[in-house]
Amino acid sequence: MPTLSKLTKSAFHNEAQAFEYLEETLWPDGPVCPHCGTVGNATKLQTPERVEGKRQARIGLWKCKSKECRKQFRVTVGTVFEHGRIPLHKMLQAVYLLCCSKKGISSHQLHRVLGITYKAAWFLSHRIREAMRDGSLSPLGGTGKTVEIDETGFGRVAGAPQRFYRVGGRMGQYGRTVLTLVERGGSARSFHVEGTTLGQLLPIIRANVNRESAVMTDAASWYKFLQGHTGVASHDTVNHTDYEYVRYPESGPTIHTNTVEGYYSIFKRGMKGVYQHCSEKHLHRYLAEFDFRYSNRIALGVDDTTRATRALKGVVGKRLTYKIPHVTAAG
Ligand SMILES: [Zn+2]
Repeated sequence: MPTLSKLTKSAFHNEAQAFEYLEETLWPDGPVCPHCGTVGNATKLQTPERVEGKRQARIGLWKCKSKECRKQFRVTVGTVFEHGRIPLHKMLQAVYLLCCSKKGISSHQLHRVLGITYKAAWFLSHRIREAMRDGSLSPLGGTGKTVEIDETGFGRVAGAPQRFYRVGGRMGQYGRTVLTLVERGGSARSFHVEGTTLGQLLPIIRANVNRESAVMTDAASWYKFLQGHTGVASHDTVNHTDYEYVRYPESGPTIHTNTVEGYYSIFKRGMKGVYQHCSEKHLHRYLAEFDFRYSNRIALGVDDTTRATRALKGVVGKRLTYKIPHVTAAG
């Protein structure tokens, strides 16, 4: 049997099936009424075909059977898909495309592929990034686990003189700074930070790294007092300025920061090649996107379909309420 394109799935083309697919994903125990919280006690209002003289119910509409409630709702209520004017099946295609493209997919491309306006594609991709945002508060690492920490300069702060900014290498004064924590064999978590002073980095490291972890960084001065201030099990460094990239201790994990650097190489190629530039206030959303794909990567046994399903589970409770008039930037 020939392998069909993943995009031939009916939920990507048929609006009613798109709703059914989202319902199966978000409501494993039956429909959940967003008005009263009742689970599994609602009727589907949708009439299958147009009946003469009868108004056809909207696709995916349910009515709560709870006595005091009786209100109508759809599975998209309270999710990033609410209020979207784009049909749900197209939004599901966008989720899939954004989840399976290692370096992301630009709003321009989504606009062309999905046949929606650029503005709509821009809003949609930010809503999907919001769904990808990791809500988990549990720290990375743990006993016998290694967390690599590194930071990178990226892009240019709006308004900074062009000739001063440097990308990568030494942090430019006018570049934005990204701090990333990666658990070897596990997830990544990235933060847009103001700078690299101890006071700026420590609260993030304390909140996101389990104290039983072995921590690896480069020899940057701001990591000097990391162990004393965070109480992590161990802290080893590699000195890149001396061309030292890996060290094999007699016991314990190999000392290097290649994992987090591998993360940055995907992030930078994506930001440069696909998104080109993004405004500073949206950087954290792009970071969420790259973190999500990295933390749900194939090496961890997560294939494209599973990754897209996981992103869909994240659509709940993250409806974007902000208004962005600025949609001129590519990306
Ligand atoms: Zn209800």
